[in-house]
Order: sequence, then C-alpha cells, then structure tokens
Amino acid sequence: MPKITGYETHDVRFPTSLSGDGTDAMNTDCDYSSAYVELKTDSDLVGYGMTFTIGRGNDIVCMAIGAVCNRLVGKDTEDLFANMGKTWDYMMSDPQLRWIGPEKGVIHIATGAVNNAVWDMYARARGKPLWKLVVDFTPEELVASAAWRYISDAITKEEALAMLKEREAGKKERESTVRELGYPAYVTSAGWLGYDDEKIARLTKEAVAAGFNHFKMKVGADQASDVRRGKIIRSIIDDPQYLPPGGGRDPNSLELQGKNAGPTGAVFMIDANQVWDVPQAIEYVKGLAEIKPWFIEEPTAPDDILGHAAIRKALKPHGIGVATGEHAHNRMVFKQLLQAEAIDVVQIDSCRLAGVSEVISVLLMAAKFGVPVCPHAGGVGLCEYVIHLSLIDYIAVSGNMDRNVLEFVDHLHEHFVTPCSINKKGRYNVPNIPTEGYSIEMKKDSIAEYEWPNGSYWVGARGGKKL
Ligand SMILES: [Mg+2]
Repeated sequence: MPKITGYETHDVRFPTSLSGDGTDAMNTDCDYSSAYVELKTDSDLVGYGMTFTIGRGNDIVCMAIGAVCNRLVGKDTEDLFANMGKTWDYMMSDPQLRWIGPEKGVIHIATGAVNNAVWDMYARARGKPLWKLVVDFTPEELVASAAWRYISDAITKEEALAMLKEREAGKKERESTVRELGYPAYVTSAGWLGYDDEKIARLTKEAVAAGFNHFKMKVGADQASDVRRGKIIRSIIDDPQYLPPGGGRDPNSLELQGKNAGPTGAVFMIDANQVWDVPQAIEYVKGLAEIKPWFIEEPTAPDDILGHAAIRKALKPHGIGVATGEHAHNRMVFKQLLQAEAIDVVQIDSCRLAGVSEVISVLLMAAKFGVPVCPHAGGVGLCEYVIHLSLIDYIAVSGNMDRNVLEFVDHLHEHFVTPCSINKKGRYNVPNIPTEGYSIEMKKDSIAEYEWPNGSYWVGARGGKKL
C-alpha cells in the first residue's frame, strides 16, 4: 500500500491586479494566488491541493503547508483513507503547530490545502471524482469523515446519522437529476468595484444571455455610486428583451420566494467584503433597498457573530437578508452564526475551512438548521473545488438545490487540467472524469510561468531580472 514520501509546494501568483478583476471595497489590488501542494507517495499516486490567497503572504502559507505535510510523511495512505475524520484530527493535533492557530489564520488555511490534497489522493486512488467518492459513502462513513470536536452542542453524530439515513433513499435520483440539469450558479464577475458602468452593463448582458439569473455586485465604497451601478444591473436583468430564448422564471415560484426577484425572476445580491461597523452597515444597506437585493454579503467583520445577527434583524423588515462565510475560519464560527440566527445563507469556503472534512461538518449543521449553503468561489481554483462540495450537499446531505446558487467567476480556469464548466442554462456541469479527484491539479506550464518570484511571467515583468 502506498506510503506518503514527501511533498512539493508552489507559490503561484497571477497578475490580476492589472485588470481590476476581483476588486471590492476591501480588496483593491488582488493578485489571485494559489499556495499549491503536491503530496507524493512511493507509487504513481499523487494528491493535489491548494489554498487561495490574493498575493503577498502566499509564500508564508506555502511554508506552513510544508509544516503540516511533514506530519503525513511516512504514513500509509490506506490508513489515512480508512477514517478521514480521524485523519483530520491527527492533522490538527500537532501541539506546537496548534499554538499558532488554533484552527485559524495561516496554519488553518495551510491545513485546508493539505487536507484537500489527501482527499484528492483518496478520490484518485478510487478512480472517482471527489464528490462521487463522498456521495457513495454510507451514512456511517460520511459521519466518520467529518470534524466533530466542539460542535456537539449544535449537532451530534447520532443526529447527523439519522438525517443522512433519511436522505439515503433519494440519492440515486438526485444524482441523475443534477447530472442532467447541472448545479445552479450565479455570476459575480459583472459587478467588480473596479469596473466602469459600460463594462458592467456589457458583462451583465452577456451573463443574462448565458442563462444566469442570479447576479452579484460589490458595494461599500460610495452609496450613491452603488445605487447607480445597481440600477444599471437591475435595468438589464429585469428587462425581458435581454433574456435568451426560453429564459425568464416565475418570480413567485418556490425557488425564488423571499429573494426579492424582479419581473423576469432575476435575483440581485450585494457584497461589502467587511467594510462597515454594525450600525453603519444597517444604515448603508437600508439606502440600497430600492435596488432590491436578496442579501448583503459580509456586511461587517467576519468574526462578529452577534453583529451579523443585529444586522439581519434590522434589515429583515426591508426584505434584505444576510450572508457570510468566506472568511469564517472554522466550523465553530458557522455553528454560532447558525445558533444566533445571524445568517440567511451559509457561504463556506473550500480552503479557508481546513479542507473537506471540516466542510462536511458545516454542511451537516446547515442542513440541520435549514439554512441553504451557497459556497464562496471565484479567485483561482475555488470554482473547481466548490462544485464538488455543492454536489455532496445536494445529493447526500441537504437533499435540496432549489434555492441554492453556487458562485461562478470566469477567471483563470484555463490553468487547471480539468477546469469547471457551465452549461447553456447557466449551471455548473457535474465533474465526471474518473481521474480528476478534486479537480485542482494545475497545469505544469502554468506553474512554470506564474511561480513567484522567478516564473517566466514575473521575470519578464521585471525586464528579465531574477530575484
Ligand atoms: Mg464575497
């Protein structure tokens, strides 16, 4: 049985700050980056993983990834796969590394990259895409794969098991449904803060024509400008003339209820990326009520659970919900957000949480609390990852995708060996290649070109100077 013999890390940075892609009220010059890891064995079996950053500091994450990987060197892969929850506990339990978290910050996102690499390796070893590996688990195996410490006051293993057993009978049918239809997606790339009005209008029209009906815009730099930009987007998504043939949905249908859908069934969301204090968030977002958002995403500090609860309560009479999670750094934050009734939508991040095992814990809690999971994506690699997580959620955990939408941003997919894709109805296709694992393997050429600081792109940008 293969043993883990070592690893390679790569600090890969893409110069996205040059185009204004990814700009929001908080993050103004992002170079989308991947702290990338290849976990090696004494056989052909390899596991790929990464975590996402936005540039400087990616080298620090790579160093932390190395520290986490060292714990796995020498381990038998089948022993690791036999109980992935136990493997996760083992990865988290280095007493010295724990001190520089615990379960937060650089060490936690580094652990996310490595845990994802182990899951990728497991899926490859079984010849299945990651989502398929997990949905084929028995309820007992799925429960055993999660991270359980510190959440039993919100959900017990027994409760999770009972819930999964209840959903077991419909799994086959849901799998064939989603293979046929695809998984619902939404578009963020039309509404970056750094784009001018003309570019926003053009990209919104393109997104409507491509079949999307949920659209998100970045807000928080200037209220008047947010209203203006929001009106531009609403004027396009609410106008039937831009719809593709057969497009348009009933705004009163069950899947759109409570989402502030316009006359064509289009839904609009806004994202502040943490810029406001709590009272400021409430006042500012009330001022955006006329552009009818479904939710405000990340209105304030990601750790402020009670602040999110206060904002949600204050905005409820205005028909606006609250979403957060891309910076919620562990399952305990999600547990409290759910317990405090602070959010309408759970936005897990595939590599801020420490990998698939911790994500499964959050999926289980969200399903118990009846809150939809709409994962954070975009950046680089996140879309490739999250389609797997949403498929696990729909097929095996929550059993529902009617009200869910998975973020889609059309940047940088070309750097992956098995990139995600979107069908003609604006939905994610189901990853289906037996050897693609967690779909996160990056092309070797892309790594050689964009590795920081001496990949060919960066050396060229410096006029041939190596660092
Ligand atoms: Mg966001």
